[in-house]
Amino acid sequence: MSLPTDDILLVLKENWGHSAFRPLQEDIIRSVLAGQDTLALLPTGGGKSVCFQVPALARPGLCLVVSPLIALMKDQVENLRKRGIKAEAVFSGMSHQEIDQTLDNCVYGPVKFLYVSPERLLTDMFRARVGRMKVSLLAVDEAHCLSQWGYDFRPPYLQIAALRELLPGVPVIALTATATEHVKLDIVEKLQFRPGSRVFQQSFARPNLSYSALATEDKLRRLLEVVRGVGADKTSIVYARTRRQTEDTAAYLQQSGVKAAAYHAGLPADQRARTQQDWMENRVRCIVATNAFGMGIDKPDVRLVVHLEAPDSLEAYYQEAGRAGRDEKYAFAVLLQGPNDADELRRRTQQAYPPLDTVRRVYQALANFSRTAVGGGELVAFDFDIQHFAETYRIKALDAHNSLRTLAREGFVQLNEAVNTPAKVHIPIDHHDLYRFQVANAQHDQLIKSLLRFNGGELFSGFQRISENSLAQHLKLSVLDVRKTLLFLHRSGIIQYQPRHESPQALFTTPRFDADKLPLDQKRLLRARDLALEKTESVVHYADGGRCRQQLLLEYFGELDAAPCKVCDFCLAEKKARQAPAPTTDLRQQLLTMLKAQPQTPREILTHFAPGQATAVTEQLRELVEMGQLQYAPDGRLG
Ligand code: ADP
Repeated sequence: MSLPTDDILLVLKENWGHSAFRPLQEDIIRSVLAGQDTLALLPTGGGKSVCFQVPALARPGLCLVVSPLIALMKDQVENLRKRGIKAEAVFSGMSHQEIDQTLDNCVYGPVKFLYVSPERLLTDMFRARVGRMKVSLLAVDEAHCLSQWGYDFRPPYLQIAALRELLPGVPVIALTATATEHVKLDIVEKLQFRPGSRVFQQSFARPNLSYSALATEDKLRRLLEVVRGVGADKTSIVYARTRRQTEDTAAYLQQSGVKAAAYHAGLPADQRARTQQDWMENRVRCIVATNAFGMGIDKPDVRLVVHLEAPDSLEAYYQEAGRAGRDEKYAFAVLLQGPNDADELRRRTQQAYPPLDTVRRVYQALANFSRTAVGGGELVAFDFDIQHFAETYRIKALDAHNSLRTLAREGFVQLNEAVNTPAKVHIPIDHHDLYRFQVANAQHDQLIKSLLRFNGGELFSGFQRISENSLAQHLKLSVLDVRKTLLFLHRSGIIQYQPRHESPQALFTTPRFDADKLPLDQKRLLRARDLALEKTESVVHYADGGRCRQQLLLEYFGELDAAPCKVCDFCLAEKKARQAPAPTTDLRQQLLTMLKAQPQTPREILTHFAPGQATAVTEQLRELVEMGQLQYAPDGRLG
């Protein structure tokens, strides 16, 4: 089925208010509508979402979207709902009932988009339902997560191939903003693209973005210079590696009069949200963040992105730096380089691959921590504070962190970012039973009435967000009392209640192994380490420069024919060198030749040179006279 341009344009206009497609969007959408498997590579901010959302809206049925980050998923669902489009999401951390109900809505209701985290794909519950959904399109967001050659390999993504078998004939669209040649081929293969599939790639060049890497021994001072150079009143992001570093740097900038704030995953959710909002609305100009910040954030007028330390791959650097200048106006991406940074980066990469016995020890500790018996625990998320975990089991924080990352990469555990999950309530009994309960338990009558008043009858059909704070205010109770009562009602079977929480979570993605028998593949781990070291070297190579930085980046992504960007530090330095006045010895020789051929007054001589060279010319003439190589004639001419 193919739609005339006007129809898909209409879908775009009606739902998003955009008047035209961006480059490649229309081609990609047409390919999808023609039923072809499609890989779309667009830079960050290139408008990837529209590429699967428009075709999904243009035809009947449901679009299944696989996405790795819960926060991103929630943002997208929220955005679609704001536009009146029915969207749902299923991810770890939701209760069994909630998932059950959401999937049911997708089978029986008019849901248009279902976002799923990859580890959910092959659960029995999901498999049983997906075949009954009228799926029209499978979208794989952040498709580089499929490839172990990428910078963010997520093993559960490999299950998408098996999902395709459950959805015969359904086309797939894979989207990413960063993929090397190797990763592209891998995506096409792992997703089992059918013959006739299409790959669309927009150049990753960002003509308005000036990349530079500055060597410095005093990063803070240099940072301040850069921020002031671009304009302290402009929007900027500073990436730091540790939480502590974000706070110290923000404090330093504040003391220097810059409206800066720190942002990292360790801050309470409401503070994070407030800081982000302040930055979005320009009350804070410079946000100093760990890489927890930025995904899914769409602020077009970022003029400057500074990295205090290089990330461990060029993919990550390209993504983070690429948040500058999304409005296509001139912007800067600056990497600050200390004298030992390259070695430090190499050391960190080595450390990221701890010895196997450490990894096994951490796996065992995680099992104890979550009280998971051998053979159990698959996909049951539990709250997980890594610091608390490391202290409890006397494991060095770095070892714990790196071992868990290894376990995640190998597909044994998954760590989810902290997500702020609002409190939710569902009333599973009918009106009559509820009424009977209210009569018999008058002390809870007010709270139940308020719940119904705030949320209406929808509470009977499914989980609804509730605000514990509003209830408390309305009932003139403390939030704690409200929670206690809700919990009591939950235990009594009158409501199903999920309290609000915001801690990070972890889960086992397989039934738990005996730690000694955990099938860790040493060879593969070593290969992964070597690959990581290669990526590190690419970053070092970029930082060393010696060539146009945009070209260096593009070559890494397989674009070998890019022209110099003319705006990076290297290109600008070259241009300056070309325009610089000739060295003094040349100038001196030039003056001697000119004047020996034809004596002239100094004023006459100056007319042959650019105004900017006047001082140098006068200086040289004076020296030549002093040295006796030129003499004044009585008429004032030099010769
Ligand atoms: P990506 O996922 O590629 O980073 P998004 O899909 O989040 O990008 O889109 C980035 C921004 O561009 C969003 O604000 C989106 O509304 C906007 N956008 C996408 N397509 C168009 C278009 N055709 N015209 C104008 N704006 C667009």
